Amino acid sequence: LPEQEAFDIEYWLLEEAKLQRMPKPKALAGKVAMITGGAGGIGKACARRFLREGACVVLSDIDADALDAAEAELAGTYSADLVRTVPTDVTSEEAVARSMLAACRAYGGVDILVANAGIAASAPLEETTLDMWRKTFAILSEGYFLAARAVFSQMKTLGGSIVMIGSKNALAASPNASAYCAAKASELHLARCLALEGAAHGIRVNVVNPDAVLSGSKIWTGKWRRERAAAYALREDELEEHYRRRSMLQRNVFPEDIAEAVYFWASDASAKSTGNIINVDAGNAAAFTR
Ligand code: NAD
Repeated sequence: LPEQEAFDIEYWLLEEAKLQRMPKPKALAGKVAMITGGAGGIGKACARRFLREGACVVLSDIDADALDAAEAELAGTYSADLVRTVPTDVTSEEAVARSMLAACRAYGGVDILVANAGIAASAPLEETTLDMWRKTFAILSEGYFLAARAVFSQMKTLGGSIVMIGSKNALAASPNASAYCAAKASELHLARCLALEGAAHGIRVNVVNPDAVLSGSKIWTGKWRRERAAAYALREDELEEHYRRRSMLQRNVFPEDIAEAVYFWASDASAKSTGNIINVDAGNAAAFTR
């Protein structure tokens, strides 16, 4: 009957309006996220994004002072109960294992791992010493392996999401940065291998590849910034504009942009994806512009 149909439509519209008014459950409520390199630009942005969605965060970093500052900053906005810090050198097998144990003791387990701690190293091949090569691989490639291995067995019980912060340099070479580019490429393939191993246990492993994120990043304050500018024959203060202009979207990428993609991989919104990549690069991986 037309009256019945009109009534049904009105009823469902009222129901919909009621649902809209109800407070929405936070997407990561009850989840625990461990972020390596958590005191840095991208790490902190991820922590803020997760806290907004109700997660507890455990930040690990080699820089204890920066960790204290990050904890104070985050606890100033969110509840201090939701933030823990663990000074950790990701090249130490024992320290990484201890940091995961600390996270489990504080919050009962780790549901999300963001493998993110990193450095940037730049030199032409003939000036790349074996020490530089090994240090780069120890922090990036081995650091990601150690962090993932430390959470893997406990994630096998309830599932989990591992997000690796790769780089545009995992896909494309940058001038005078062979160690960094090769280490970043190894993280990408590590993610695919772990996605395969974790799939049967509900562990998803995905990658976010940022293009240059200059703001908030400690990497971009010292030697790397000087050397990147030299590699492109630019002044240091021209770098932001260089990266903006060469991108398809003509935009710079910020830590918050990376955190948004990391949040997608961490949350159930990406429940059917594993072993995949999101390039947050204003279009750089898809087309040569300049
Ligand atoms: P950042 O320097 O601000 O943060 C990196 C953090 O890692 C720092 O807090 C540093 O103390 C920590 N760290 C370094 N060595 C460590 C170690 N041995 N053990 C534990 N912690 C250690 O830089 P960011 O931009 O936030 O970089 C985060 C990640 O993103 C890195 O893996 C980097 O390679 C990647 N990335 C950055 C950019 C960029 O342009 N900023 C681009 C592509 C990829």
